[in-house]
Amino acid sequence: MKPEASSQPAAETLTDLRSFFQRTFASPPTRVVQAPGRLELLGNHTDYNLGLVMSLAVDKYIFMASAPRHDGRIELASSAFAEREKFACDRIEKNAAAPWANYVKGVLLQLRRHGVNFSGFNAAIHGTIPLGAGLSSSAALETATALTLRQLYPFTLTESGAATPPRRNSRGELPSLDRKEKMALAKACLAAESEFVGVNCGLLDQISALFGKAGHVIQIDCLQLSVAHEPLAAGLSVIVCDSGVKHELVAGEYNERRRHCESAARSLGVKALRFVTPSELEAGKTHLSEVDYRCAYHIVGENQRVIFGERALREGDIDQFGQYLFQSHESSRDFFKNSCPELDLLVELARAHPGCLGARLTGGGFGGATINLVREAEAKSFTQTMARQYQERTGRRLEPLVCRVVDGAR
Ligand code: ADP
Ligand code: MG
Repeated sequence: MKPEASSQPAAETLTDLRSFFQRTFASPPTRVVQAPGRLELLGNHTDYNLGLVMSLAVDKYIFMASAPRHDGRIELASSAFAEREKFACDRIEKNAAAPWANYVKGVLLQLRRHGVNFSGFNAAIHGTIPLGAGLSSSAALETATALTLRQLYPFTLTESGAATPPRRNSRGELPSLDRKEKMALAKACLAAESEFVGVNCGLLDQISALFGKAGHVIQIDCLQLSVAHEPLAAGLSVIVCDSGVKHELVAGEYNERRRHCESAARSLGVKALRFVTPSELEAGKTHLSEVDYRCAYHIVGENQRVIFGERALREGDIDQFGQYLFQSHESSRDFFKNSCPELDLLVELARAHPGCLGARLTGGGFGGATINLVREAEAKSFTQTMARQYQERTGRRLEPLVCRVVDGAR
């Protein structure tokens, strides 16, 4: 199955997905859902600090085709992994031979805990999101799982649990999710990843996958848990450059940074770094260890940059907006120390290209990818130059990914 080149999945991809399902389960699927990858545009590691973040849902997807079964069994297959995973609805446990299935299982367990009942299904997964490249294939897989279950066993998720299920219309379609339901699903998916998979991540990934809007930036306030959308100026290309250096979030750098942020907040007497202004941080500096201060400096600065970035976007000042991206990267590199030489090189090369308005590492860091805002007319020159120069300097292949900004999971 081929990667997508446009904002709509190629008919070929869906046909291939259906035939993958048919080959695997010897019957056709009854439902197909899709969940996009996301890019963190500005606001690095701010989500779990209850801060502000801007993200984009992009046209790389997890597709999940499914059909119900009523023997209490679940079978999963992914085009990305050779092994199939089979288990009983009442025995949802980790299997070291198929760790990828943990993302699905975690969501099933969370939904069941919220009162959602299901009696089995088959599902085939195909993804066009590169794994571990900063586009959050994991959150896309989680949200695709939640939507698949909603399609097969309709439920309405609220803060207090599953409520009266939605009705299908005459065409058999369910009503689209409202904001509250999307937020409740995002939380359930996050809980799946942190409690079952064991990655202590923030809500950014799941919110982005569910709340994406074509051509728009998603503005998330992780304290209020509110989401707004602002149009992204026309004539821009969003380009991802995967350094090829693998980040290992599970392995702990992420959790360690998180602990420093929490420790800094405690020392400053607040619940989270969201409540700290730059001058308060400076005033409280002597109470913090050097590393706690560096981490807090990054987070407090990132929240500021998101506020200023929102203003720049509203005013159509895309050059200024791009500058915030560069500043964000420098703060990651020098203060939060979640960059690496390859990411620094990618940003340096991008900055030297005349079509590039802004570039920074995106996502957790420690490897992974950069996000680049590039004038559309110069996108081709940008991708070619970056690929050539990165290979010359590191010997690593680089295949820049031009992304379209798309709607959320459905
Ligand atoms: P990221 O979310 O940044 O892409 P993660 O390490 O958080 O990286 O998640 C990647 C994991 O998600 C993969 O190792 C795999 O377990 C799961 N995953 C992603 N895409 C697929 C897919 N197409 N099929 C099955 N599992 C997938
Ligand atoms: Mg992930």
